[in-house]
Amino acid sequence: MLKLYNTLTRKKEIFKPLKEGEVSMYSCGPTVYNYAHIGNMRTYIFMDILRRVLKHNGYRLKGVMNITDVGHLESDSDTGEDKIQSEAKRQNRSPYEIAEYYTKVFFEDLEKLNIERPEYTPKATDYINQMIDFVQHLVERGYGYEISDGIYFDISKFDDYGKLSGINLYEQIAGARVEINPEKRNPYDFALWKKASKEHIMQWQSPWGMGYPGWHIECSALGKELLGDQFDIHSGGVDHIPIHHENEIAQSEALTGKPAVRYWMHGEFMMVDNGKMSKSLGNTYTISDLEKRGYDPMDFRYFCLNTHYRKKLNFTFEGIEAAKTARKRLIEQLQAHKNAQDANKDALKDYQKKFDEAVNDDLNIPLALGVLWIALKEPKSKAVYDFALYADRVLGLKLEQSVSQTQQDAPQDIPQEIQELAKLRLQVKQAKDYTLADELRNQINSKGYIIIDTPQGYQITKKQ
Ligand code: AMP
Ligand code: ZN
Repeated sequence: MLKLYNTLTRKKEIFKPLKEGEVSMYSCGPTVYNYAHIGNMRTYIFMDILRRVLKHNGYRLKGVMNITDVGHLESDSDTGEDKIQSEAKRQNRSPYEIAEYYTKVFFEDLEKLNIERPEYTPKATDYINQMIDFVQHLVERGYGYEISDGIYFDISKFDDYGKLSGINLYEQIAGARVEINPEKRNPYDFALWKKASKEHIMQWQSPWGMGYPGWHIECSALGKELLGDQFDIHSGGVDHIPIHHENEIAQSEALTGKPAVRYWMHGEFMMVDNGKMSKSLGNTYTISDLEKRGYDPMDFRYFCLNTHYRKKLNFTFEGIEAAKTARKRLIEQLQAHKNAQDANKDALKDYQKKFDEAVNDDLNIPLALGVLWIALKEPKSKAVYDFALYADRVLGLKLEQSVSQTQQDAPQDIPQEIQELAKLRLQVKQAKDYTLADELRNQINSKGYIIIDTPQGYQITKKQ
């Protein structure tokens, strides 16, 4: 029995999909104007774990993750420039080139982290007509109204506004410091569609002249188009609860008159050194940054899995170092189990049951990892290795691959130090830091060993 915490009801609920055997799920995707940082990646690892747990329970998946390539403005109060357009100007490229480049890097990062790509990954700009249609219907139904800079949603018409975050709108409005556009009917009304000035690069023809969609309408329109009026799960980071997701609920439910989403799920934030990640502090690390410092993306995944998704996770280099060491030990122990003959399958059934109970209890992955570590203490047996592979269908730590890689990489007569240098060199090479890779090759050379690149990785030999 799978239980998931629902932000909307503020409790763990037994999961029951609308359609038997199939789960429809929407996850807010990246705004592709910049490299995704490790905090963003924590949220996508959470999405991935959720998908894997659903599959582990036998469900077929229909998952959507949008790519925001238009409409996400610099300020949440519908002001400021489009984030992609302003980056395009800065780099002197077109917004489409910017979006294409960062989308590509984003998918590479997903792959490095063994995050399965959802079934649908639509670009917002491919669905402009659906968004216009959506807005038009909201206007017809009296929820949308036009002012000089765009079409806005009238939140006073939607009684349930604030139900996800439990915001008391009247208290908020009293204490609000939002810029108030005097033409708006209520200060918290938000843009469904913005009219574009001539200078605005991305703009489309609409019933209200040339313009571009608001950010929130994108998710509502894509969800409806690809998953239908009602679907099972919507996921994202906690920062999206109070504005983005409240607005999605308002738009979708105003249009169809029924709840669009059954289970709202949110991953907590990642902090760095107990503070916010921000460009000005220089602490918005990317996966490539970690690789350059010698960490495998799987070290980062392991680091994330150690904390429940609803708890804040503080990133430090000591923390990821500890994760790296633990993962290395995990692989070494698995290797010993893999090579053992004895297969005591019965003893493992209990572990499997405990593992399933943990992951099905609102994705308690830290507890599930604990079950795996206890199993590793059993006498050496191939059955333990098989159990680890069973667990890895959910954990996604590439355990099978890592164990065989380590076996390949570690011929008996090559000293540990050289093996570590070679491993590090492969990682920095994958992160495209060729200067450092060459330096490491020289170090290996000067210690009397030769490293040769092979299609599988590399081979080390002792100099004659
Ligand atoms: P964005 O591209 O800003 O829309 O963010 C993409 C995803 O990353 C969203 O689901 C955010 O909620 C999430 N996110 C942003 N910052 C963090 C963070 N520091 N920790 C965890 N998730 C984050
Ligand atoms: Zn969204």
